[in-house]
Amino acid sequence: MNALAATNRNFRLAARLLGLDSKLEKSLLIPFREIKVECTIPKDDGSLASYVGFRVQHDNARGPMKGGIRYHPEVDPDEVNALAQLMTWKTAVADLPYGGAKGGIGCNPRDLSISELERLTRVFTQKIHDLIGIQRDVPAPDMGTNAQTMAWILDEYSKFHGHSPAVVTGKPIDLGGSLGREAATGLGVVFATEALLAEYGKSITDTKFALQGFGNVGSWAAKFIHEKGGKLVAVSDITGAVKNPNGIDIPALLKHREITGTLKDFQGADFMDPNDLLVHECDVLVPCALGGVLNKENATDIKAKFIVEGANHPTDPEADEILSKKGVVILPDIYANSGGVTVSYFEWVQNIQGFMWEEEEVNFELKKYMTKAFHEIKAMCKLHDCNLRMGAFSLGVNRVARATLLRGWGA
Ligand code: GLU
Repeated sequence: MNALAATNRNFRLAARLLGLDSKLEKSLLIPFREIKVECTIPKDDGSLASYVGFRVQHDNARGPMKGGIRYHPEVDPDEVNALAQLMTWKTAVADLPYGGAKGGIGCNPRDLSISELERLTRVFTQKIHDLIGIQRDVPAPDMGTNAQTMAWILDEYSKFHGHSPAVVTGKPIDLGGSLGREAATGLGVVFATEALLAEYGKSITDTKFALQGFGNVGSWAAKFIHEKGGKLVAVSDITGAVKNPNGIDIPALLKHREITGTLKDFQGADFMDPNDLLVHECDVLVPCALGGVLNKENATDIKAKFIVEGANHPTDPEADEILSKKGVVILPDIYANSGGVTVSYFEWVQNIQGFMWEEEEVNFELKKYMTKAFHEIKAMCKLHDCNLRMGAFSLGVNRVARATLLRGWGA
């Protein structure tokens, strides 16, 4: 099942749980606006290269639309639509005054030079600048993009609209970015895991983790798990995977990867087949890479008791069903990785206030938001007798449905 079909399915199940009117259900599902633009740039060698850029603005009932921009070869309209919709439910679960959006360009950023990436980002911004904005749609980093990408968008947007730091989040600190934003998704994953484990009388200390993906989300999550005494028994990135039953020294692994660019030849662990990572022996599995990695091919072999979805839609519905029959508890993406967009919200607020918060304040507020959302999801699970994914979806969908009904359709 592709990402959009899976997301629609989860939304519909939640709509049924809530007893939503079928007309309202339909209106919530259809995206507010889908943008598709041609982005042609001169390459460094003088030849031309054309790419397709997307921005899907899914819903704005609760506020300006919000979500990342992804640079990846697999970016396609269905994927961006699914991710945009997930952002709508995610911002509502976190109770942020936002709707949901997502963008992307179908390209491999590793094949582009820095100046080619800059030209591509500026061309894309020129094509969408009239449709984004501080109170309209606020982009942020996602896979394949980072603070520098946001700096180029900010600069290009400001040429048309005047200096507007709040038009993007996840910016460099020097341009109004928030302290703590870079680590926020990973730290949020850890706060979410703590809230979940506490329900079972457990804590991160001495719990065994396997983590897929050592990019922005995975590496920060690994660092905080390690600091809190958790044992990372297996870690992977696109260059491979390593394992150590006694726990991997994460700061040493980060240093090794920084120097060599790979996880290979790391002295403190054994190299393993990255395909085995998801089925590795552990207590908590944390997928922090691509979508759809947990599917009917591997779900029966999962050994973890808990799965914390650092990535967006890592579990397809078939795997969801198999895992739930096995009694595996899954903390869903729209809650587990909401720390990033939550600190994006703090960044936007700071830009609008023109006042910068201390990092401790950012992290303190993040923990408050993550803990509150966890208990609100649990309350929905109790009310509807459902699992955590449906608890989170019904919480988010209900908030958006209420805002939509209150605003009306302007007929
Ligand atoms: N790309 C991140 C996500 O999927 C962050 C979005 C944001 O900060 O707007 O949640």
